[in-house]
Amino acid sequence: MSTETNTVATYATADELLAAIQPATGGREILDPATGELVGRAPEHEVADLEAAIAAAHAAQPEWDALGHDARRALMNQAADAIEANAEALAHLLSREQGKPLNGPNARFEVGGAVAWLRAAAAFDLEAEVIVDDGTTYAEMHYRPFGVVGAIGPWNWPMMISVWQLAPALRMGNTVVMKPSEYTPLSVLALVHVINQVLPEGVLHVVAGGRDVGQLLSTHKDIDKVMFTGSTATGKAIIRSSADTVKRLTLELGGNDAGIVLPDADPKAIAEGLFWGAFINTGQTCAALKRLYVHADIYEDVCQALTEVAKNMPMGVGLDEANVLGPLQNKAQYDIVDSLVRKATESGARVLLGADPQAEQPGYFYPSTLIADIATDNPLVVEEQFGPVLPIVKVDSIEQAVALANGLDVGLGASVWSSDRDAARAVAARLQAGTVWINSHGGVDPRIPFGGAKTSGYGVEFGVDGLKALGQPQVING
Ligand code: NAD
Repeated sequence: MSTETNTVATYATADELLAAIQPATGGREILDPATGELVGRAPEHEVADLEAAIAAAHAAQPEWDALGHDARRALMNQAADAIEANAEALAHLLSREQGKPLNGPNARFEVGGAVAWLRAAAAFDLEAEVIVDDGTTYAEMHYRPFGVVGAIGPWNWPMMISVWQLAPALRMGNTVVMKPSEYTPLSVLALVHVINQVLPEGVLHVVAGGRDVGQLLSTHKDIDKVMFTGSTATGKAIIRSSADTVKRLTLELGGNDAGIVLPDADPKAIAEGLFWGAFINTGQTCAALKRLYVHADIYEDVCQALTEVAKNMPMGVGLDEANVLGPLQNKAQYDIVDSLVRKATESGARVLLGADPQAEQPGYFYPSTLIADIATDNPLVVEEQFGPVLPIVKVDSIEQAVALANGLDVGLGASVWSSDRDAARAVAARLQAGTVWINSHGGVDPRIPFGGAKTSGYGVEFGVDGLKALGQPQVING
């Protein structure tokens, strides 16, 4: 039974939460990627629903803006409280729909991240900046809301990425219409249901439709900015769709992050960091380590240390508290991973671990896989695998590693691993990526801007820069 405290319902289980968001009848069946069992039914919103949501968001925006920053901050913190009060039910639903385990850097971690990013976006100070004040000229920079923000998200981190999009948008006085991935709509519907117990009516909407709804959102005349996280191919389609209305865009797109291990690194000391850099969320992470370049001097030691760590990480059904790795979220992604590993093994690359999926199981489980002695242009190296598989390439020099790391047209993240911080920073400066981590990979922080280089996208999220990206710059001169 749900209980009411300060008008915020607290749901004890995922099923109670599901009962609050599912349509009374019909809807699209969402199946658990670990078991094939029914998780729940998602409403099938259509174009008319999107029109209604945009109209309501448009109507609610002036009043939301007029509330001012402090009132919005207070409501965002109350929304974070509401998520915390429902954290277990949300984490269980997320685990069942997305597949990720409750434990490890997975479902509970993701719900905690949603809370942290909401509170951080509420906390930042954003004062008007005095640009010139020289006695004759006085100019200030302000950031005004755009109006209605459309937020289109992927299926890998559905709750956390939704908050990355909605939190800065709301804080800046915009209202929001979200279009979750058709693979994970329930997670976003549930999260927004909890948040909307606190927010005024009309401010935040979810339209759980397919690609056609996403496409309309990115062309609609009353959507002023689109926040998009997903594949580079869809990002390019959104750039085209946005042209006629000159929409503002923040695009967080695909990556194929490189890691470079310098010859002075300690293989045993870095192995666990390398593992989680690559295998977080079972590899289904935009800024995961997806290709590793290791200096020949320590290549075998790194391969061995990584294998030792990887072979002991339990994979299985997410609701089992023992597991830290789960299934691929959907069949299409499973097939991509399977096909890339086959191409690698058929080329003669050496299997250190895995590459032996079990056909007879119900879920989309692909075993943790490490592939060594692989050619630099093998598809598993140059294409985004987005799964629990890491190719490890031997390099003879740092020069070669830097050239290979920079050789693709993506550039979300990268990492350098070394016992010498200065040497690592010197290599980092030469890498074409939005973030370069040293002795870790993929960690994000709500205070630190995050965004891609090259075809991994443009614009940044997080931090004060992330707030500014949700505001129209306006100079007051005089
Ligand atoms: P996707 O591009 O297939 O789908 C993302 C969203 O776009 C979905 O909601 C989908 O319905 C919608 N969409 C599809 N076609 C559209 C169109 N023409 N117009 C508007 N919307 C449309 O991506 P995915 O498979 O869900 O996610 C995986 C990809 O996302 C990977 O490439 C991953 O690297 C990337 N990703 C990037 C980041 C980042 O921060 N850079 C974060 C997470 C995921």
